[in-house]
Amino acid sequence: MSGPVKRFIAGAVCPACSAMDTIKMYEVEGVPHRECVQCGYTDTLDARGNSVPKELGTRVNEVRKAPKKPTSQTVQFFPNPRLKKKD
Ligand SMILES: [Zn+2]
Repeated sequence: MSGPVKRFIAGAVCPACSAMDTIKMYEVEGVPHRECVQCGYTDTLDARGNSVPKELGTRVNEVRKAPKKPTSQTVQFFPNPRLKKKD
């Protein structure tokens, strides 16, 4: 058994590491797969040609959490008077 024929996609940019000409494409059972030889990123393409990362295969309905906003609250340090020892 020989594996699927993998072909480099000229000019393709890896969505994970942004390297160019590192994407190989091959088909498994008629489903196009892509893999990056630079960082190891792999995904598949659905019928519409949309990228389907493997790691999201069973978590499609997961709600994306909004990124945390950096707090601009200033941390103020008040010296605790109790720490002062009386001689
Ligand atoms: Zn990559």
